[in-house]
Amino acid sequence: MYRLAGTSALRHLDRLGWNPVRHPDRASGKMGDMSEIDGMGTERATCVLAPNPSAMTLNGTNTWIIAEPGSSEAVVVDPGPKDGKHLRRVLDTVEAQGRRVGLVLLTHGHPDHSAGAGKFARLAGGSVKVRALDPRHRLGDEGLGEGDVITTGGLELRIMETPGHSDDSLTFWLPADDAVLSGDTVLGYGTTVLEGSLGDYLGSLDRLRAFSAEAGAATILPGHGPKLDDPIAVLDHYIDHRRERLAQVEAAVAAGARTAREVVERVYVDVHKSLWPAAESSVQAQLDYLNGR
Ligand SMILES: [Zn+2]
Repeated sequence: MYRLAGTSALRHLDRLGWNPVRHPDRASGKMGDMSEIDGMGTERATCVLAPNPSAMTLNGTNTWIIAEPGSSEAVVVDPGPKDGKHLRRVLDTVEAQGRRVGLVLLTHGHPDHSAGAGKFARLAGGSVKVRALDPRHRLGDEGLGEGDVITTGGLELRIMETPGHSDDSLTFWLPADDAVLSGDTVLGYGTTVLEGSLGDYLGSLDRLRAFSAEAGAATILPGHGPKLDDPIAVLDHYIDHRRERLAQVEAAVAAGARTAREVVERVYVDVHKSLWPAAESSVQAQLDYLNGR
């Protein structure tokens, strides 16, 4: 029996030169324009778009520079791929603001977000640390996790663990701007393919939805694609989409599909075949979820 595990599918994509942000449904999404993404943000957050666009990374990775007005220190979230020109441009942007880099944070460890982090920290200066949930992606001995509050340069960033896209996915809340930095848990368009468990992901979406409503979130600043100005509507869409897909997978299994591949062949008929390996990893997560509940 042919059964492709999620991580194998991702490795397969890596061999194809694709970064692990997956979006089998992007045909139904709205493409952002590069010029509207680079430089976008809020009062405290500015996006520097990395030049790594692909079917999987949408327009490229969004690197975020975040700083309190009047502060001489900035926090850089997700330096991006190991691309010297991009890393240099991020640093130049920080310096053009009259600031230096105080800290680097990672929303998760996928290489399109993290591969350049060590190089960037060294470029920025000897003592700059990289904090991440997964110890493998840290520089220095400080981790990052649920309930942590970052106060670099007078900034306030609150950390939530939101697993699902990956086991180490974090979401950052920037209360002064009512902004949610969602990493790849929520993207600027389309939906995310899962490497972690669907149960975790649904829990993370429900939590972000409840949090956004209670905290009055006004903006989502995603890891890829344009920013989103109606967080509740976006999260409702994500939650509905997952429920619909789950119902489709259940129906395909009821109709006789036995493997992730067989489910994909039924459910993702309208999606280009180049994205089927990614879809398969997503379907496998759904099958695991259905089998486990
Ligand atoms: Zn990504």
